[in-house]
Amino acid sequence: MDTNIETKCLHAGWTPVNGQPRQVPIIQSTTFKYDSSDDMGALFDLEASGYFYSRLQNPTNDFVAAKLAEMEGGVAGMLTSSGQAANFFAVFNICEAGDHFISSSSIYGGTYNLFGVTMKKMGIECTFVDQDLSYEELSKYFKPNTKCVFGETITNPTCTVLDFDKFSRLAHDHGVPLIVDNTFATPVNCNPLKLGADIVTHSTTKYIDGHGSSVGGAIVDSGNFDWMAHAEKFPGLTTPDESYHGLTYATKFGKAAYITKATSQLMRDLGSIQGPQQAYYLQLGLESLHVRIQRHCENAQKIAEYLEKNPKIAWVNYPGLKSSKYYDLAQKYLPKGTCGVLCFGIKGGRSESIKFMDSLKLATIATHVADAKTCILHPASHTHRQLTDEQLAEAGVAPDLIRFSVGLENADDIIADIQQALDKI
Ligand SMILES: *Cc1c(COP(=O)(O)O)cnc(C)c1O
Repeated sequence: MDTNIETKCLHAGWTPVNGQPRQVPIIQSTTFKYDSSDDMGALFDLEASGYFYSRLQNPTNDFVAAKLAEMEGGVAGMLTSSGQAANFFAVFNICEAGDHFISSSSIYGGTYNLFGVTMKKMGIECTFVDQDLSYEELSKYFKPNTKCVFGETITNPTCTVLDFDKFSRLAHDHGVPLIVDNTFATPVNCNPLKLGADIVTHSTTKYIDGHGSSVGGAIVDSGNFDWMAHAEKFPGLTTPDESYHGLTYATKFGKAAYITKATSQLMRDLGSIQGPQQAYYLQLGLESLHVRIQRHCENAQKIAEYLEKNPKIAWVNYPGLKSSKYYDLAQKYLPKGTCGVLCFGIKGGRSESIKFMDSLKLATIATHVADAKTCILHPASHTHRQLTDEQLAEAGVAPDLIRFSVGLENADDIIADIQQALDKI
């Protein structure tokens, strides 16, 4: 039965049969027992599906990944130990030394470092682009060795909304998949796979966990990208894998090829898997995600409107505000709401911003975002402090940008807190 997203939050992924636990069971085991050596051997040949070692796969993780895959409208999913691992795996599964890919420059600072510094050391080159450039201008960045395009539905921290039509057309016209990090929108407010993306990633650490308790990530594949149609670009999927007796993922696993390769090759060799206990917390978060994200958005809208009217505030960017440059894109792709994160600048600059943050009583200064409790961060002096001013400008992070993550408290209390802190400057 096809159900709505709210129902999927509760019921997708795990369907107990007679007498089984109603809640997803935590299979806290590294290993799994088999009756014969042939049974076990078939697993190692990828001839049979089953579990053998929790560095690659664990049933609890798979129940939860299946829920997320269903919520996103994909064919297969996997959980990773963090959002960083998810984005790394998502790209590294199809790029190797000598390859190139294109990413929006407005992405999360940690991903920017991963792509621009660490993956560069592995011989994979990333070109960061201004995602608001035209299709024609963006087309110029493609090279013969370009293997994918990457963006975020709503960027962290600048709240830029991705133009899905432009980006999916751009990727597909050049024969490569579009990978979208959907962390801020969540599968409740946006399903990138239904808007032209091929692969979606998440830092589940944010709204999905929702309570600041567990670091985690996920990848979901639409199964729609035709690897064999671009076989020469993706040899990892379209030519035999010697580490599995020469099987070819795209022909053997069809729509499940991408996630199967990421699991049996990358997870096997790099082991960035989520623990089953962590996956269970993630599952609890998913159950109430639809209720929470709606309130996050309502609260953020109220606070954005309050800030916009405040004479001490220089600017506000929230895609739910009519004044936002991204309002129209948000209406088109995120009609149910965007996210609970907004950013703004205080008149006067750096010292006023710091005084304001230090005066807050309810909102906490935290290197976190998108959870139940309101928190605040100044990227230029916190998360993005490794970036030069030039890189900051390229990432669209103004030196005075304050990232405000609106929680689930009563909106009037959050506003009162902001007001008393503004009164001090
Ligand atoms: C936090 C974040 C990440 C990284 O996730 P971790 O779980 O912290 O590793 C990736 N993308 C976005 C959009 C994020 O906000």
